[in-house]
Amino acid sequence: MPHIVTDNCQRCRFTECVDHCPVQCFHADDEQLYINPDVCVDCGACIPVCPVQAIYDVVDMPDDKEPWVAVNKERASTLPIIGAKQDPLPTAEARQAELGF
Ligand code: SF4
Ligand code: SF4
Repeated sequence: MPHIVTDNCQRCRFTECVDHCPVQCFHADDEQLYINPDVCVDCGACIPVCPVQAIYDVVDMPDDKEPWVAVNKERASTLPIIGAKQDPLPTAEARQAELGF
């Protein structure tokens, strides 16, 4: 089962995950990242490096995150690949604090 990025990533985009992914499965819009489920090899390397716990293995995700499975698939199919770490969004620190991390 693939891994997914969820709403905790919104307004963060720390992109730590991208540098730890062995394949190019992260895609980005102006607000957050998404994982292409057809490319993800389920290594799990991205989960512990996300500072806001935005990434889940689908088998372990809370029920309320289920809609994000379809969102990741749909958004990843239309957005460009992000292949390297970038600067976080200017709102990242505030968002992290808001989430309690
Ligand atoms: S590390 Fe977490 S918050 Fe940062 S871009 Fe990846 S999923 Fe989003
Ligand atoms: S589980 Fe592995 S392959 Fe899938 S997005 Fe995370 S780091 Fe990349």
